[in-house]
Amino acid sequence: MKMQRTYIKDIDEKKDGKEVLLKGWVQDIRDLSSVKFLLLRDYSGVVQAVAKPKTKVFDIVPKISIESIVEIKGKVKKNKEARKGYEIIIDDLKVLNEAETLPITVLEKGINIGLSKRLDYRFLDMRKEKVRAVFRIQSEIINAFREFFTKNDFIEIQAPGIISTATEGGTDLFPVKYFEKNAYLAQSPQLYKQMAAISLERVFSTMPVWRAEKHNTVRHLNESRQMDIEVAFADEMEIMKWMEKVIQFIVKKVIENCKDELKALNINLKVPKALYITYEEAVKKLKGMKYGDDFENEHEKKLCEMYPDTIIFIHEWPRSLKPFYIMPKDDKVTRGFDALYEGMEISSGGQRVHIPKILEEQLKKQGLNPKDFEYYISAFKYGAPKHSGWGLGLERLTMCLCGLDNIREACMFPRDRDRLVP
Ligand code: ATP
Ligand code: MG
Repeated sequence: MKMQRTYIKDIDEKKDGKEVLLKGWVQDIRDLSSVKFLLLRDYSGVVQAVAKPKTKVFDIVPKISIESIVEIKGKVKKNKEARKGYEIIIDDLKVLNEAETLPITVLEKGINIGLSKRLDYRFLDMRKEKVRAVFRIQSEIINAFREFFTKNDFIEIQAPGIISTATEGGTDLFPVKYFEKNAYLAQSPQLYKQMAAISLERVFSTMPVWRAEKHNTVRHLNESRQMDIEVAFADEMEIMKWMEKVIQFIVKKVIENCKDELKALNINLKVPKALYITYEEAVKKLKGMKYGDDFENEHEKKLCEMYPDTIIFIHEWPRSLKPFYIMPKDDKVTRGFDALYEGMEISSGGQRVHIPKILEEQLKKQGLNPKDFEYYISAFKYGAPKHSGWGLGLERLTMCLCGLDNIREACMFPRDRDRLVP
């Protein structure tokens, strides 16, 4: 009978002394005169396998190239020194697919290779413990986001990625040929989640968005993933609360379910508190800023340093700094907000304008032509409750929780000004 494969995570007390069949990648080889060690990795962990002298594998092991795919049959043996508390005494070994010489190392010390080169070989780079940890945590983030809002009676919607006109006025969009027409890649699911919320009340979505911004910073990608919600009958204060709750939920889940990954990244993650301040209060706390200025990243950094482990919600933004679709609160300020965390903006949102007449006025004030937005305005003519929402950048949140200083580290296959492959 064919032996069943054992995963490295399942090597424990119960398997001690038993014969197992393992499959995986050869992470490292140590060629000593008396004994040969092979570090075997599968998705679930790394284990030390040992080739003893006078066995048929003793001479084979040192010749196997790093990252080759192998199958090992061997006995589990307790060994306090080995990293899992157990090692495998190899009886038989088959090389399933031999690896050629690697263009970059996949050992942890290889993390010092330049990021650009690492990204050229991302399929190898992601085999490193620290890199795998980032994407395991990212997976947990998006899972927890879905779990939280599904539990709270939201439904997940799928907005289109190809749109006919701009949500915010046309700049920074990637044009695409769409048969005889001109179209664009969506820079946000904004309009679509609004249309869904005025009918279905509580919606969320997770999707990539595309922005043709030419700047090349450590916080911007040209394709990023956004986690969005839109809620009918809610104002901006209510949806900021949703964000506070969901981020706290996400962080708890990461702390609970990603212990090894946080350890690999050397991160001591804390569930963040929340601080709610007005734009005016925030400006007063910062030297060199005056009312009406937009926040630069250095300002975001300074504010976050004043309040560590805190999500800072800045609301009551001046009307000149928020887009036309954000509801005015009075003559001076809007119902829009930004959320800052770990030194940068992670989200923008607010209460939307659901009254066609106000939308038209706001468009004109910003020098836009209401005619170009007819399809958008008309959506709110047939029974539209007030509604609010936000978009939260997945890569930015991943940066925050993993302590990364470049957003490209938080994106498996980044698209930036210079990079379109792999
Ligand atoms: P910023 O001012 O930092 O450039 P933004 O105000 O242009 O961001 P929004 O339109 O408010 O961005 O988008 C909502 C969220 O999506 C942002 O808060 C951020 O988390 C994320 N995001 C926006 N643009 C990018 C980008 N180019 N790369 C990565 N994430 C982004
Ligand atoms: Mg913003």
